[in-house]
Amino acid sequence: MEEQQRYFSRELLRWYLDNRRDLPWRRQHNAYYTWVSEIMLQQTRVSTVIPYFERFIAKFPTPTALAEAPEEDVLKAWEGLGYYSRARNLQAGAREVKEKYSGVVPDDKAAVSSLKGVGPYTTGAIMSIAFNRSEPAVDGNVMRVLSRYFRLHDDIAKPATRVHIEHIARDLIPDGHASDFNQAIMELGALVCTPKSPACLLCPVMEHCAGRLAGEETLLPIKTKAKPPKPELRYAALIEGTGVNKGKLLMRQRPESGLLARMWEMPHILVPKQMSVAGLPDAEAQDMLRGALHQEGLTVLPIERFMDAEHTFSHIHWQMRVFRCSVAEYAVVPEGYAFIGRDDREQYAFPNLFVRLLDAYFAE
Ligand code: SF4
Repeated sequence: MEEQQRYFSRELLRWYLDNRRDLPWRRQHNAYYTWVSEIMLQQTRVSTVIPYFERFIAKFPTPTALAEAPEEDVLKAWEGLGYYSRARNLQAGAREVKEKYSGVVPDDKAAVSSLKGVGPYTTGAIMSIAFNRSEPAVDGNVMRVLSRYFRLHDDIAKPATRVHIEHIARDLIPDGHASDFNQAIMELGALVCTPKSPACLLCPVMEHCAGRLAGEETLLPIKTKAKPPKPELRYAALIEGTGVNKGKLLMRQRPESGLLARMWEMPHILVPKQMSVAGLPDAEAQDMLRGALHQEGLTVLPIERFMDAEHTFSHIHWQMRVFRCSVAEYAVVPEGYAFIGRDDREQYAFPNLFVRLLDAYFAE
């Protein structure tokens, strides 16, 4: 190993042992905790994850408890974190652990990597952080740190670059310190070598950082831009109930599979692309919504705009225009629909966008 590598491993580990944050999943070596936290941390900030993690572990303290829970409870515990397929995969993985490994996450790379929803990064994180195995765990943070430190100009959006950086990261792990070392690189990426403004003057490895020495710390890493999410305009119906359903809203459950599977939402329609650029005048939009929902068996009369809301998924951007409808009287609630009130909300899982819309409605 060259001096630049030895220096990195030594100084980074020393810095981490003095500076690591006290995070709930770090308080004990527990592979299930590592697994849950790493899945939650994908695309989500540490400060957001902490209360979710604590509630989740209190509710589902072991893989077996998670495996045996109703899916609705798991989605409810995940509500607000987004990317719900993560929660479903986590539960599917927990079921595999319960069935094949007696409820204990196995200390075996091949077995861990075959669990549902566990990719190369999460495998590396579980094997190294929980079991102290010398496996790299390379995510965006780690690619950024190593691209800068070694002044690598390869595009980190390319799979071959990740493989190359995994080799580099594996060689850097000091014997017997995989757990602390991998967390140290992640911690450096989160606290010091941040995406936009790396704090090089506070960095424990600044002396030999090739990117900094070349003045390229903000230029690196090189990353080609992903395609922007596809915009979709949608019209939604806010349908209030009457009689025993007074104060409740008519919601529907999404299909068994696909985006946001089985979660609950306001009935809404996708506006054809050619009409969605500027949107239609409200009167025409309401007509379109009424006609489309009629075909679903819902008789509604949109009367005024309630509010607009939006949400970006990884590949789609939803712009939702919500129309309040005249009060609907349903002797029988159509299949797949339910009237949901302020007090029933806890029994249903909603995507973030509809959590915000329900909050706005019930706050009125
Ligand atoms: S010196 Fe700067 S660019 Fe290099 S690893 Fe440290 S924070 Fe990142």
